[in-house]
Amino acid sequence: MIQSWGYAAQEATTPLAPFSFQRRDLKEKDVAVEIEFCGVCHSDIHSTRNEWGNAAYPMVPGHEIIGRVTGFGSGVTRFKIGERVGVGVIIDSCRTCTSCKSGDEQYCEVGATLTYGVKDKYGDMTYGGYSNNIVTDEHFVHQVSEQLDPAGVAPLLCAGITTYSPLRHWEVGPGQKVGVVGLGGLGHMGLKFAHSFGAHVAQFTTSRSKIEDAKRLGAHDVVLSNDASAMAKEANSFDFILDTVSAVHDLNAYLPLLKRDGVYCQVGLPDKPPTIFMGNLLFKRRNLSGSIIGGMAETQEMLDYCAAHNIVADVEVIPIQQINEAFERVVKADVKYRFVIDTSSLKKP
Ligand code: NAP
Ligand code: ZN
Ligand code: ZN
Repeated sequence: MIQSWGYAAQEATTPLAPFSFQRRDLKEKDVAVEIEFCGVCHSDIHSTRNEWGNAAYPMVPGHEIIGRVTGFGSGVTRFKIGERVGVGVIIDSCRTCTSCKSGDEQYCEVGATLTYGVKDKYGDMTYGGYSNNIVTDEHFVHQVSEQLDPAGVAPLLCAGITTYSPLRHWEVGPGQKVGVVGLGGLGHMGLKFAHSFGAHVAQFTTSRSKIEDAKRLGAHDVVLSNDASAMAKEANSFDFILDTVSAVHDLNAYLPLLKRDGVYCQVGLPDKPPTIFMGNLLFKRRNLSGSIIGGMAETQEMLDYCAAHNIVADVEVIPIQQINEAFERVVKADVKYRFVIDTSSLKKP
């Protein structure tokens, strides 16, 4: 077994604290990665606090992982020792169902294996990237450009692909008006991608203090979503709206902003369901939809796109010892725009 150490939640109400554990010895298709950076996703907070009701402890969160290859099994062909790689939200899937075969492993019909907090096919608990290393099947490991800042690349493995994938799926581009709701980790990546794809982009935010940043990050318009008259001016004008908000909020304030046949895509996953006035959908044949991360080939495509267009996340790098304070700040929407853990701060027990 491979000795590992990181930070774990022991239950929903305790702070994250140092934790030692073991990872499996390398199987034929496995890659071992020494972790350099791991992003702090709001999902890590929902999960460790059991806000979605399915948590398993001890939980080592983290699914925005960047590191270097330190070893691999005899059947691995795609990687070299020392190469910089990324691991995201899933680390296994059946590879034989319709979704897996079409490159949509995240929608695996038998359920993809999450990077942390579940049992894998060997019966071992999966532990995430708030740790010094990870062992993963090579199919779920991605090549990362050496040209990009590795701390800024880490959030691409979740926040990046989760926003890139729906924008591509609904073919967002020139001539379209696109909205991004919430300027956090996902939102700021959605804004960068929608701008880069050539759409006219409006950022919706509840935070007046983020208006100038939103413009710098690529917003053509910024709308304060708690200003009813500013919202009313946007009625019936959007082709596509990407909602990245982590908390329960009123979708009925946003749906009327879509044109006829427009698409509202939910990627934020609040712990409670919304109430929707169906008239907001049916009178203009609007579509309400959702999307989760992206497939493995698409994740590589997104990383390559970012390398070609020099796109990374705006990050605040922290030592692991500040993780509990960072969680509190994320919940208060007080991060510009992703915390990333420098895992060299982890101390060997
Ligand atoms: P985050 O950094 O905390 O950003 C969320 C943003 O939502 C905040 O910055 C804030 O933006 C806005 N917001 C927060 N509370 C609000 C409220 N009560 N009303 C209105 N707006 C509010 O979170 P994140 O890491 O981007 O994750 C966002 C959500 O996506 C989480 O629920 C996460 O679990 C989910 N997620 C889903 C996927 C997927 O595959 N679908 C992947 C990753 C994460 P403003 O200050 O601009 O208002
Ligand atoms: Zn995430
Ligand atoms: Zn499958």
